[in-house]
Amino acid sequence: MPVAAPRERTRINLKKNDTVQVVAGRDAGKQGKVLKVIPERNRVIVQGVGFVKKHTRPNPQKNIKGGIAEREASIHASNVMILCGECGKRTRVGHKLLADGRKVRACRHCEGVLDK
Ligand SMILES: [Zn+2]
Repeated sequence: MPVAAPRERTRINLKKNDTVQVVAGRDAGKQGKVLKVIPERNRVIVQGVGFVKKHTRPNPQKNIKGGIAEREASIHASNVMILCGECGKRTRVGHKLLADGRKVRACRHCEGVLDK
């Protein structure tokens, strides 16, 4: 019998356009907007964070100029924390149920709703 793959223990609580702060690594302290979430790898791409230099070869057929381009690289989701728009603190993500039945992400400090 095939062995079931272990379930992901951590799930990404981040979404595109969240404002996050980097809490570990080379870019610790930087803030930026989430440009992309890669759930299967538990990684996010944050605007202005984790730049890598990419060397590209010119390819006239595809109209690609050669040189060194800087691009954001993905960083591990555990290295960033969401910033609460209400209290301004970085926070872990909780959940709460709104009066209208919607389940939203909430700040653990001030209970502020993180989903707009
Ligand atoms: Zn808050």
